[in-house]
Amino acid sequence: MQMMKALVKKERAPGLWLDQVKVPTVGEFDVLIRVLRSSICGTDLHIYDWDPWAQKTIPTPMVIGHEFVGVIETVGSHVHDFYPGMIVTGEGHVVCGRCRNCLAGRRHLCNHTSGIGVNRPGAFAEFVVIPETNVWIADPNIPLEVLSCFDPLGNAVHTALSFDVLGEDVLITGAGPIGLMAIAIARHAGARHVVITDLNPYRLELAKQLGATLACDVRSVSLQQVMKDLGMKEGFDVGLEMSGSGQALNDMLSVMCHGGKIALLGIQAKQTAIDWDLVVFNGLTIKGIYGREMYETWYKMTALIQGGLNIKPVITHEFPFAEFEKGFALMKSGNSGKIVLHWADL
Ligand code: NAD
Ligand code: ZN
Repeated sequence: MQMMKALVKKERAPGLWLDQVKVPTVGEFDVLIRVLRSSICGTDLHIYDWDPWAQKTIPTPMVIGHEFVGVIETVGSHVHDFYPGMIVTGEGHVVCGRCRNCLAGRRHLCNHTSGIGVNRPGAFAEFVVIPETNVWIADPNIPLEVLSCFDPLGNAVHTALSFDVLGEDVLITGAGPIGLMAIAIARHAGARHVVITDLNPYRLELAKQLGATLACDVRSVSLQQVMKDLGMKEGFDVGLEMSGSGQALNDMLSVMCHGGKIALLGIQAKQTAIDWDLVVFNGLTIKGIYGREMYETWYKMTALIQGGLNIKPVITHEFPFAEFEKGFALMKSGNSGKIVLHWADL
């Protein structure tokens, strides 16, 4: 029986364990991928910390991680379009294929989604097995560290392209890795002003490198003042909420133009309250975003990168997998963008 190294949620307590586990079995419609790079997501941090969401969601033991790039090692007996040696990434949401939305081609709205590295073994490992329907063939000219971030980049692309941003003024709340990527996407897509907010000076500095018109610390600058400084009279046309903070969402609502459009990616606390008058009387549209469209978002992100979109400044640290503790500590500190772990080289 072949064994591999993996980062495992072994005990129902904070932490992660670098362990030897069995290489997962390859079903007839599955693809076995040798992982080259994987990147750490906020979800992985929740699992590491063993917060209430993780406690109710994660069965143990579980190999975690869902953002990765690798090379195909073998394929199941019924897989015909993928071959050993192909560089691939993978969609982290496994859908049922049978519900109304799946059958209609709206797989991102599947009623029975399960998560790689959440509900089934993940990619913080030397090998990962995913269904062939989740494999995305990568352009091998795109750097591996960028490909390893395709899952969160897809969140950013899905959110930022939900509404037309050409010539529009865009407000992004939250300069985490996804908010930072969204700056570059909104710029690439032709926005006029791209304003981003955060409370973290390290991330606000990164935001400038990614092309933000203004990167504002909301503790010292008001968005009303920002609008004045930029000569904006009626408010932001498009809002991308990428912090999960109720305060940030309320800040955003207070500076949207009438008829403005908001895409909500950040996961809000259940009890978050907003001023509904602003939504109703100002005719706002609010759209919730979950994951990536399969596979239109994947097509777009590949094409955007091929067309010159540069998200490299978001990737601030890389470590060998054995030094994962350093990566998780940095993520927790907030003084990082995206952190990539190295598993193997080609
Ligand atoms: P992150 O936690 O790294 O970044 C959030 C940022 O928001 C942080 O830099 C934080 O300092 C900032 N922030 C906190 N309070 C703020 C405030 N009042 N105003 C402005 N900024 C504030 O998260 P990420 O990995 O970049 O993800 C962004 C959000 O999207 C998170 O809420 C995450 O849970 C969520 N998410 C949703 C999906 C989905 O499918 N809907 C997928 C991935 C992530
Ligand atoms: Zn479904």
